[in-house]
Amino acid sequence: VELPIHEAVLGHAADFGDTPALIDGTDGTTLTYEQLDRFHRRLAAAFADAGVRKGDVLALHSPNTIAYPTAFYAATRAGATVTTVHPLSTLDELAKQLRDSGASWIVTVSPLLETARTAAERVGGVREIFVCDSAPGHRSLIDMLAVAAPEPAVDIDPATDLAALPYSSGTTGLPKGVMLTHRSIATNLAQLEPVMPSGPGDRILAVLPFFHIYGLTALMNAPLRLGATVVVLPRFDLDSYLKAIVEHRITHLYVAPPIVLALAKHPAADRYDLSTVRHILSAAAPLDAKLAVACSARLGLPPVVQGYGMTELSPCSHLVPLAQAADAPPGTVGKLIAGTEMRIVSLDDPDKDVPVGEPGEVVIRGPQVMKGYLGRPQATADMIDADGWLYTGDVAYCDADGWLYVVDRVKELIKYKGFQVAPAELEALLTTHPGIADAAVIGHYNDDGNEVPHAFVVRHPTAPDLSESEVMMYVAERVAPYKRVRHVTFIAAVPRAASGKILRRELRELRELRELRELREL
Ligand code: ATP
Ligand code: MG
Repeated sequence: VELPIHEAVLGHAADFGDTPALIDGTDGTTLTYEQLDRFHRRLAAAFADAGVRKGDVLALHSPNTIAYPTAFYAATRAGATVTTVHPLSTLDELAKQLRDSGASWIVTVSPLLETARTAAERVGGVREIFVCDSAPGHRSLIDMLAVAAPEPAVDIDPATDLAALPYSSGTTGLPKGVMLTHRSIATNLAQLEPVMPSGPGDRILAVLPFFHIYGLTALMNAPLRLGATVVVLPRFDLDSYLKAIVEHRITHLYVAPPIVLALAKHPAADRYDLSTVRHILSAAAPLDAKLAVACSARLGLPPVVQGYGMTELSPCSHLVPLAQAADAPPGTVGKLIAGTEMRIVSLDDPDKDVPVGEPGEVVIRGPQVMKGYLGRPQATADMIDADGWLYTGDVAYCDADGWLYVVDRVKELIKYKGFQVAPAELEALLTTHPGIADAAVIGHYNDDGNEVPHAFVVRHPTAPDLSESEVMMYVAERVAPYKRVRHVTFIAAVPRAASGKILRRELRELRELRELRELREL
């Protein structure tokens, strides 16, 4: 039988009883499985009593807290579609998402209430704002648990009804609302289960945001479905992250490449005893194989393995099976998960598949493919063809054993005199320089019309005098001439999305501003 997401995840919650489901990593507050089960049912009843109906969109606007899953599953049980919102959204961003998604309900936390209220007033159509904690004039989820109302009898069709409406990260353009059905999310969980096993006794550290599909799946849905314990941290700070691993005897780390980089370069990270960690998985952005090895070796961690996916895939298509972590070749993002088909097609002719070992665009078909982008039929049609194949926009190649290696995004490839240069490769190389803390690369059109790599570099505190020519030389000595970095700009920090992706368009804007300034100075 097909189940709606709250049943697929919490169907066995009552059996896990007193096992902690969620622990607040800052103050130790614990929510057991029995409580999670009871609370989300009661809250669903209270939501229904407040007027939430099937098909309504509820915006969940909150940092990671132990209340987050209760609010999420209560909303879907009441029949709502949850649009998860970045807690640090500006007023404009929040208003845009409320309007685009057609949200009629908001769940927020008191520190974000002012933004939520102003955005709701601006957009209209929001019927009520609930708060997870408490705030005058607003109903609190805690008080709503006491509402005596019958559990709503909502008839959900998992194949067509939307459980979630997350927004893509907006790395390449504007964030788009991704329509995910109960089926697509629940099926992806079932597909992941054999290769990402976990269960009671496992302790997962949730620092990546729940609002992003990677966090929602790896840190919330998957572990809660299997009876593991999720330790919640509201924001990433390397010291508290390391302390939490030790204090809570964390067994699984689900991370993004910036965390791997921070762990590998942290001056004192190797002073922490991280021996409880059995699995470390990175996804959401390119991770360099050498960096992964350096991180594990330095901290005595198991090999850092990868998964690959995107919001539009609910989110996963490839994963290194955790049981094969030690055998997976370096740099791979994994193997195709069950029930999923893949083609790698030529960048010049999408009707042609490339031979094994050659890079092309990754195309995926499976039950986890989104229903479409909300209100954007053209964008949907551009991405999913009539046969259900989804064009990922990512360049990758596959080896003879079926391991996939992601090169970069099609759109980010720098085309230099007929050659293609992947920014990710140069970024990985740059960060191997001890004087470089972080780096990002974009294409830049020279006056001669050639696109060349431009590196934005963050100096390591130990190398305040690192020069542009040193950086260029370091790369030139290690790559083919066409890949050489031709411009270097030092910056304080690489702009990244919450999911860890480099926001290259912000770097492009930065460069345009500089060019404008230089023009004025001339
Ligand atoms: P938008 O689509 O709005 O521009 P986005 O593509 O960054 O934003 P997400 O759905 O969060 O939004 O990210 C999916 C993308 O992340 C993939 O298309 C791919 O480029 C990248 N990605 C995910 N996992 C990996 C990985 N293991 N290695 C390299 N890249 C990855
Ligand atoms: Mg995308």
